[in-house]
Formats: sequence, C-alpha cells, structure tokens
Amino acid sequence: MGKPTGFLEYERMDDVCISPEDRIKNFNEFHTGLPLEETKKQAARCMACGVPFCQSGTMISGMVSGCPLHNLVPETNDLVYNGNLEQAYIRLMKTHSFPEFTSRVCPALCEAACTCSAMGEKAVGTKNNERAIIDYAFENELVKPEIPKVRTGKKIAVIGSGPSGLAAAALLNHRGHLVTVFERRDRVGGLLRYGIPNMKLDKRSIDRRVELMKAEGVEFRCNVNVGVDISSEEICSQFDRVILCCGASNPRDIQAPGRDAKNIYFAVDFLSEVTKKLIDADYDSEEIMSTKSFSFGSLKGKKVVVIGGGDTGNDCVGTSIRLGADSVVQLEMMPAAPLVRAESNPWPEWPRLLKTDYGQEEAIFKFGKDPRIFSTTVTEFVKNKKGALSAVKTVKLERKADETGRVNFVPVEGSEQEIKADLVLIAAGFLGTESYVADAFKVKLNGRTNVETNADEYETSQKNIFTAGDMHRGQSLVVWAIKEGRSVAKAVDESLMGYTTLR
Ligand SMILES: Cc1cc2nc3c(=O)[nH]c(=O)nc-3n(C[C@H](O)[C@H](O)[C@H](O)COP(=O)(O)OP(=O)(O)OC[C@H]3O[C@@H](n4cnc5c(N)ncnc54)[C@H](O)[C@@H]3O)c2cc1C
Ligand code: SF4
Repeated sequence: MGKPTGFLEYERMDDVCISPEDRIKNFNEFHTGLPLEETKKQAARCMACGVPFCQSGTMISGMVSGCPLHNLVPETNDLVYNGNLEQAYIRLMKTHSFPEFTSRVCPALCEAACTCSAMGEKAVGTKNNERAIIDYAFENELVKPEIPKVRTGKKIAVIGSGPSGLAAAALLNHRGHLVTVFERRDRVGGLLRYGIPNMKLDKRSIDRRVELMKAEGVEFRCNVNVGVDISSEEICSQFDRVILCCGASNPRDIQAPGRDAKNIYFAVDFLSEVTKKLIDADYDSEEIMSTKSFSFGSLKGKKVVVIGGGDTGNDCVGTSIRLGADSVVQLEMMPAAPLVRAESNPWPEWPRLLKTDYGQEEAIFKFGKDPRIFSTTVTEFVKNKKGALSAVKTVKLERKADETGRVNFVPVEGSEQEIKADLVLIAAGFLGTESYVADAFKVKLNGRTNVETNADEYETSQKNIFTAGDMHRGQSLVVWAIKEGRSVAKAVDESLMGYTTLR
C-alpha cells in the first residue's frame, strides 16, 4: 500500500463528466477521466485491505460481490499511486483482456465491495484508475500486437464478435491456435458496438482493438450469419473447435392491444440504427441529429415513451434527447428502489438503490423532471385512423398476495392514464438467445433459452462445441462476457492440448 493514510487525506473525486447541457449536443463520450496527479491521489485512498472484497468476485446472497475478473485491485491502485502506470498496465493485463471497455461501461462491482464504502467513506475510484492505466498504455504505445511465436495448427471458429467472443479469440490466438471470428453484422463488437451508445463507449476504441487482434493473426469474417449463410456442418468440418458467443438478443415484447401500431420499436433495434448511422457518418453528430432518414423518421418534436426503467431504457432516453425528442417518459413496472440501503442488503452486497443515470439526468435538465414513472405498465397502444401510434394507456401496479400467499402485481383501480406518444421503445429485457444457432449446432437450451452446460463448464451437449457470454449465462454485463470469454478459452485449449497454459 503506497499511502496508509490516503483514504483519510483525500476525498473521492469522480472523473470529469461534461454537463447535461453540453453533452446532449452530440454523441461524444462525456466521461473524460482525471488528470494523472489527481488519479494518483485517488489511488492512494486504497487501503490494500486484508480481505479485498473488491477483487474477490464472490457470490453473496445470490449476487456477485467484487470484480468477476479478479483484477488485482489493491496492487494496481498502489502502482498508480506511485506513478508506475507501466507496471500497473502489466498487472492489469494478467487478469483482463479489454480494460478500455470496462473502464468506460462497467458498473464497477469492485467499488460496491470496497471497504471504504463499508466505513461510511466513498469507495476508491478503481474504475477511473483502470481507465487512467489503459489510456496511458495506449497513449504511450505499451499496447502492441503480441504475435504468437509458435502455431499449433489447431483451428477454432468463434461465432459472434461481442466481448465474450473477442476475449476468447484473443487468448486462443495468443496461445498459438488459428482463430476465425464470424459476425452476422457489418462490424465487429456485438452490443459493445450496436447496443451501448457512443456517448458511453466511443466505437473507435473497438476498431483500435480489432486492428490489434488482426495484426496478431485473428481473422474476422463480418456479414456472415452462421446457420443461415454457412451451415453448422461446414463450420464443424473446417474447424477443430467451435465457440458459440451469439449473445441473448431475443427481446421481451409487451403484449397489449394495438401492439401492431406503427412506430413501436425494440430498444436495441433503435439504438443500433442510430449508432450505425453515426459511424457511417464518420461520427458527425450534427449530421445524425438533423437527419430524417431513420426508419422512424426524425424525432424532432416527437413524444417518446420508453417502456423499461433499466439501463437499456436509460440509453434510449439519452439517445432520444440527442435526436431532439419533444418529451421522453420512461415507464417502469417495479416500484422505485430505496435511496438508502435496506438492512437486508448490507455491504459488500451490490447496493440495490435508486440511481439517476445519465439519460435521466439529461431529461431532468431538458424537461425539468425525472422521466421515470414507477409501478406502472402499459395496457394499450392507442392508434390513430392511419394505424400510427398516438398514445399509450397505462395503469399503476401494486403488490398483493393471492389466496395461496403468492405476491403478484395487480392493477390499481382508477389509476388509468393516457400518455401521448409518437414513438414507443420497448426496453423490457431479454428472453435469452435466438434459438436458430443453437438448433443449427443441435446444442441443448435450458428453460431460459440459454445454452446449457454443466455448472462452471463451457462445453455444450455437443462434443467440441463450446459456448460463452450472454448466450451461456443470460443477459449480463461486459465484464462477465469478458470473464466468460477468458474461461471458455481455457476450456477449449485444455480440450485441444490436454492441458492449458492460459490463466
Ligand atoms: C442497450 C444495452 C446497453 C448495455 N449497456 C451496458 C453497460 O453499460 N455496461 C455493461 O457492462 N453491459 C451493458 N450491456 C450488456 C452487455 O452489452 C452484454 O452483456 C455483452 O455485450 C454480452 O456480450 P456477448 O459477447 O455475450 O454478446 P453480444 O455482445 O450480444 O454479441 C453477440 C454477437 O453475436 C453475433 N451473432 C449472433 N448470432 C450470430 C450468428 N448466427 N452468426 C454470426 N454472428 C452472430 C451478434 O450479431 C453479436 O454481434 C448493455 C446491453 C444493452 C442491450
Ligand atoms: S472490470 Fe469492472 S468490476 Fe472489475 S475492476 Fe474494472 S471496473 Fe471494477
């Protein structure tokens, strides 16, 4: 530990965040990091605790506490405090594949489990420190292609280029296997590319990583929908092992009368269309903000209703505001989370608290109020004479026990409302993977339509066919996808070589 009294001397400082007023003018990243001298002070707050929950990634009360990758948090914080960012980078890469992604989009499970926050202090800013390390490494050309010296001659197909597929491909290539990544979209990245909006993660950071991987020998084949454009038999005949990393993109729909109205979109279709146009326009925000060529036309002067109060819904709020929406309302069927931790949710569990995310902050700035309406669901999509959406009917929900004691959400009588809407975005979660790939490879799906494996294993019901990421564990987080990608790489290497040197 660099400075034993650091946490007493220095207050937590969050990274620089452009104000809502300025950031809604474009799609640029709005978190810009801290100067190095301030980052060092922030790292000095780390106490190198005897039991560092921050790096434990331990299951507590059914949820993981600490970093799933087991990043060596106190060690890297110490190195940052001492200004040795090169060693901090080397240490970080022992457990991580792509810190440039998590240091921007991770909800920082490490910080929720930080001992400082157990003592009434603010957590050490580990996520920002991670960003300082990886940004320094790129700026100072420490991140170089690592071309394997020896090739094993074994061939691996990775289906899907999200963070799990990329993490698996990078490690297996470093090990000397020949890796081809198949992607059905026009560009690599999965939801990193076409889910998470550009203002949270600039897509050029994905291109930079992909170029490195190409230089290392990974082959990428975009616009190839495996199971449609190329059969599973062809893939299996050309490769020694297959890893299915196809995500869990099957959206949960809202079944209500009027669902066939025009201008009802799934959140990811909406977000991905906007990002694709932005990249095609070479990141020219102004062009995107003024275009009318979206499939939903222009949002200028339109009323948007987002169904779903989670992170994806929040991304829809922020994106709609940037596109000039006249109003944005976000409906959530669950009640609002508490402002302070419930006794039943102690540290180091993940704090289940009401958070006001960037999109909601922007809505408060633009429209003067929080866009969220809690404990509310849609009962009908109202159409005009042309069949276009004009409003949504809603009702409040409350929890009530039935005669068996089971608690259900039931409508509150007299709470019906009608909210004007020109566009509805459904961000109501995901039901699992699209089954056509699993069917093509004849792998078993479990009840949640994710690919089944034995616990903590990655081989599917079909020999030599493996799976990882959201397709395996269900809709989750980038950090988990990377963790799964690294783990499946070890399993595949072991199955090919009889042992593994991957860590
Ligand atoms: C809108 C949104 C915002 C999010 N924001 C965050 C966030 O801020 N922080 C965070 O940690 N997590 C976030 N997540 C979750 C995170 O993005 C995912 O958990 C993660 O990307 C999963 O990675 P994956 O590799 O398993 O799958 P994905 O990223 O879904 O990638 C799967 C890839 O497989 C491809 N594919 C599918 N089938 C085929 C086929 N047959 N042939 C070829 N290719 C195929 C798909 O096109 C896709 O590119 C967000 C999710 C969404 C939807
Ligand atoms: S990957 Fe996420 S949880 Fe792990 S150390 Fe980085 S910010 Fe924390």
